[in-house]
Amino acid sequence: MQRSDSGKFVSLLILAGAATACAALAAQARVEASPGPGDKKEPQKVRKIVMLAGPKSHAAGMHDHAAGLALLKKAMEKAYGSRVKIDLIEKGWFDDPAALEGAAAIVIFSDGDGAHILKPGNLDVLRKAMKPGTGLVVMHYALAPLPVAEEDFLQWIGGYYARNYSKNPINEVQTVPAAPEHPICRGWKAFTARDEYYYRIRFKDGDKRLTPIMTARLPKDKPDSETLAWAVQREDGGRGFGFTGGHFHANWKIKPLRTMVLNAIAWTAGLDVPEGGVESEQAD
Ligand SMILES: [Zn+2]
Repeated sequence: MQRSDSGKFVSLLILAGAATACAALAAQARVEASPGPGDKKEPQKVRKIVMLAGPKSHAAGMHDHAAGLALLKKAMEKAYGSRVKIDLIEKGWFDDPAALEGAAAIVIFSDGDGAHILKPGNLDVLRKAMKPGTGLVVMHYALAPLPVAEEDFLQWIGGYYARNYSKNPINEVQTVPAAPEHPICRGWKAFTARDEYYYRIRFKDGDKRLTPIMTARLPKDKPDSETLAWAVQREDGGRGFGFTGGHFHANWKIKPLRTMVLNAIAWTAGLDVPEGGVESEQAD
């Protein structure tokens, strides 16, 4: 996403709101991170994961959804072998009405707003697929749904990029794991990357299901702890994960970033996450 309001002005009112939100998030940081469906009950069950890659919209190396998901798919297959069946849909959506049937987790990496792959008709298909407690991972601009899907996002993954509220400057910033006890935080430590990390995400008020996973001090001129990735354990057993980075394809070369996202895909699909995190080789 590239917007004209990229962090150019900050009002005291906005900062006060952000501070309040961060205090609330800190209080939620201790949310239970126990294993959910699948981790213990059916460790050998094959997990179907469907990855939806929206069309390319930016210049080379940016918003490269299909290429990003392709390398995550490859890494998951290498790590979990026959325990996963991963369908990567490169054109954003699918013709087969059964494409999402039986999915343990769905991963969406696409543009947002008017270009979001979750147009009303597609949204209805996803709503049906989410009912059994399906996991959902949403990355970068896909975190900006059409208004009709905002409540769904709050329910499924706990937050979304809110127009005229959230911010999307490009920053080179150090990010840190925020919940060492959570499976998604296994095997990676603080790292620095240049990315279009969205912050001031709109979260559900007092959401006890939510655990901040990765935070950074933003904005640089008035830093506060901002949540850039988070996890939700839903009451229906499903799990959600949001990651606001992903603008630059080259960042997949950063191993701790890859590990966090691979851990999240595994966790939302009900797979066990190794103590050292999901292993992966250097990305292309
Ligand atoms: Zn972007």
